[in-house]
Amino acid sequence: MRPQILKRIFSVFTYLYGLFYGKKRPKRVILCYHRLIDRKRSSLIPHIASNFVEVSKFENQIKWLCSFAIPRSLDQIIRDMSLPCKKWEFCITFDDGYRDVLELGLPIFRKYGIPVAIFLNSHFVLNPACLPWPELLDKLIDNYRERLIIEIEGQRVGYDFEYLGEREKFAKDMREWFRKLGSRKAKELRRRLKGVLEEVFSDGHNDVISPEEILSSMKTGLIEFGGHSSTHVNLDRCDEEELTYEIINDRNSISQIISQEAKYFSYPYGKQKYRNRYVIEYVRKSGYLASFTIDPGYLLDTCDIYEVPRLAINGEWDFVRFKSMLLGLNMFNYVSTIRSTFAADYL
Ligand SMILES: [Zn+2]
Repeated sequence: MRPQILKRIFSVFTYLYGLFYGKKRPKRVILCYHRLIDRKRSSLIPHIASNFVEVSKFENQIKWLCSFAIPRSLDQIIRDMSLPCKKWEFCITFDDGYRDVLELGLPIFRKYGIPVAIFLNSHFVLNPACLPWPELLDKLIDNYRERLIIEIEGQRVGYDFEYLGEREKFAKDMREWFRKLGSRKAKELRRRLKGVLEEVFSDGHNDVISPEEILSSMKTGLIEFGGHSSTHVNLDRCDEEELTYEIINDRNSISQIISQEAKYFSYPYGKQKYRNRYVIEYVRKSGYLASFTIDPGYLLDTCDIYEVPRLAINGEWDFVRFKSMLLGLNMFNYVSTIRSTFAADYL
C-alpha cells in the first residue's frame, strides 16, 4: 500500500480515537506555529512551505479550539501545569518572530481574545539588514541566475542557478549546512551568501518584527515576547562563547527591547538533536523561567520545565490531520515509538 494512503488511514484513525476518547480526557497543549500567509505558498526550500499556515486555515483552527478549550497565556498554563485539568486548555506560540504574525494574526488574536507568545531572534530584530537563512535562500533562488561557487568547511561547491534542479539542490544543501553549523560559521556563510545576493538584489531587508512593532503590539495586552537564540543556530554545535552570545546576550537584548525581563525561551529547530544538557543548563542559568521544544506532547505535571513539549503545526496539514494530532497526540507518540523501535532493527 502506498505510504500516502497509510498516512491517511492513520490520520483518520487517530482523529476518531481523539474524538471519542481523547476529547473526553482534557489536556493542556501548547501549539508552535511559525508564519502566516494569506495565499498558498510554494518554496524550493524543503520544509519551508510547511512553516507557513494560510490565515483562513489558522482562523478555523483557533475557532475550533475555542469551541471546547480555554485559551491560556504561557504564564497561566505553566503556573497551573501541576493542577488537575478539568477542561482542555491551549496556548498559542510562534517561533522566529516574522512580521506576518502581527500583520495577519493580530486581528484573529483580538477577535478570539487569545494570548500569544512570540519567540524572537534578537540579532535579526536589531539588524534589519541581516537576513535569517531561509529568507536569504529564498531571495537568492528568486533573483540569482549565474553560477554560484561557495566554500564551506573546506569544501568547494558550485551551483548553476540557471537550472531549476541546481537551485533545488542548492536549497537542500544549504538548509542542511545551516542546521549543522555553530554560530560563527553560520554567520560567515550568511555573510558570503548575502554578498552574492547584493550583486543582483539591493533591497536586502528582513521580514522580522521591528523593536517598534514589538512595543506597540505589547500594548494590546495579548502578545508577549521571549527568546529563540540570537541568530537561530544549532545550539548543539556551539562552543561556550557562542552559547553566551546565542542565549545570554539574546535574553539581555530582548529584555532591553521589551523593557522587562524576558521569561521564556524556545529552542531553535526545537528537536532534541539540536540541544544538549549543556545548552539546557545555559538557558536555565541565563534566568529564563521555562523553555520550549517541539517534542510532541501535552503539558503534564511531570514535564521538565526546561524541555516543555509543544505540538509544531505543519501548514500542509488538512483540518482532520490537525484535529487528529491535537486530540490524539498520545496515540501518535505511541505509534511513533513503535515505528522507530521497529525501524531500528533494520539500521
Ligand atoms: Zn525557529
